[in-house]
Amino acid sequence: MRQIFLADKVIDCTGAAAIEKGAVLVEKGRIVAVGRQADMGVPDGAVMVETRPGSTLMPGLIDSHVHIVYSGSENAAVARAEQTDTSYPAMALRAAAHAQLALASGFTALRDMHAPGGVAIDLRNAIARGDVVGPRLSACGRGLTVTGGHMDLPGYADHVSLDGFAHPCDGPDEFLKGVRVEARRGADFIKLNTAVGSRKVPGVYWRPEMNPAEIRAACDEAHAQGLYVASHTSGGPPLTATVANGVDCVEHAHWIDDECIDLMAERGTFLVPTLLVNERNFEVELAPGQTLSDWAYSSRDAKWVSLEKARKAGVKIGAGTDAGFMVPHGTMHWRELALLVQGGFTEMEAIIAATRVNAELMSLPVGVLAAGKLADLLVVDGDPLADISILGDASRLTVFKDGFKVAEGGTLISSFPAEVAA
Ligand SMILES: [Zn+2]
Repeated sequence: MRQIFLADKVIDCTGAAAIEKGAVLVEKGRIVAVGRQADMGVPDGAVMVETRPGSTLMPGLIDSHVHIVYSGSENAAVARAEQTDTSYPAMALRAAAHAQLALASGFTALRDMHAPGGVAIDLRNAIARGDVVGPRLSACGRGLTVTGGHMDLPGYADHVSLDGFAHPCDGPDEFLKGVRVEARRGADFIKLNTAVGSRKVPGVYWRPEMNPAEIRAACDEAHAQGLYVASHTSGGPPLTATVANGVDCVEHAHWIDDECIDLMAERGTFLVPTLLVNERNFEVELAPGQTLSDWAYSSRDAKWVSLEKARKAGVKIGAGTDAGFMVPHGTMHWRELALLVQGGFTEMEAIIAATRVNAELMSLPVGVLAAGKLADLLVVDGDPLADISILGDASRLTVFKDGFKVAEGGTLISSFPAEVAA
């Protein structure tokens, strides 16, 4: 099947200016040409996909930091029950629903940053097979964490076991094995927790959690298996050690010092600053007696400084929300782009962070409109370069995956013509 998409404005996300009166030619779900309508005409046998006057055609958006099995509930007790009281099958069904919310909101690919068992990996496979309609998923399986670390939940009775929740490892050999186990399960990349902040002790904005030998062992083994490594981080010297010992993508990273910025620029390390989840600390209702930590207040200011320094140094910056943790799926992903704009990005740069850069990070053949890429497309009723917030209005969005319309006006189209699979 041959299709030609026509729009008043085409943002190809290569970094070039938008094409006025643009066209994208798609064959069997893959882009074959992008240009001006006047130059391309309508090739023989192509089905015309026309868009409303004033519409913009761009790549589908990507969120590079989600927790697809969790709802993002503001209620701490609900969030904990989702982690501990929910079976893997129940998690998988819920994860599929979350993924569909994101898809209907214009996000055609997501990166899952940790799910119990192999739930997100299985969902990825089910979507790829066509069993379930959903965005492209990239998944790490379980995050590797030191015993008692960021992902090894404390606070349970001695007789309670959370086997399968995360993947505790201690020492270089166990981290090496941990990488091999997650790779065997089908992980697309490895998630570590190398450096953390303290929400309990004021003034402790960062501390190392994994030691350098552990980080090095995990990264060397992941790289040997052709996998990249992403890590939860907070900042300071433990963040610099994270990058120096081989991590390819740092998450959160609120306090990035100058030495680390230089190292990231030199090594091509990605940064996913997760601005939204940090802001959410100040939006969600606190439980009676609960107060916000010193860490929350300090990181709120520090993240803007780090973002600015990283942008100026040419660090590759992706867009990820942490949806599933204090951020619900579907309605809020777009806000990360708005926050990037608030942090000094142009609208075009914010869109590129959520498309081309995220796709490069995830090694997915999407994120730019160019020959050879898959036709994951977003039609926006309006111009997001003039007003980024229109990306948050699902009633203005039409979403295509592999060239097929999968959502319109915020509603998922769940039955496809038979030729989709062909
Ligand atoms: Zn996260």
